[in-house]
Amino acid sequence: MGTQYRVTCRHCGTLFKASNGDGFAFHLLHCERCGAEQAITDQQIGTMFRADPPAVDAWIAANVRPRRCSGRLTLDAKAQCPKCKSGDWDHDNAESEIDYD
Ligand SMILES: [Zn+2]
Ligand SMILES: [Zn+2]
Repeated sequence: MGTQYRVTCRHCGTLFKASNGDGFAFHLLHCERCGAEQAITDQQIGTMFRADPPAVDAWIAANVRPRRCSGRLTLDAKAQCPKCKSGDWDHDNAESEIDYD
């Protein structure tokens, strides 16, 4: 299950939503450059995800094209502020978490 947070950018104070964690049947990638989200399904990577994480990064680089820029999509990159592109943000408060799957 993934979680969507309402977060506040430490740089410019913009409130935005950030998603973290994996969904039930998909994994969430973030672009290292612009923070864009992209999901890949469990079916696409299968058991490779648990067995061989470095292979997943290689697979993503070869098979998943970022939609908005030429940045690299990774499972580790954090969501970024839509305004100033900072990845430095605070959770607004715990009650704003929205679970989804
Ligand atoms: Zn990007
Ligand atoms: Zn910002």
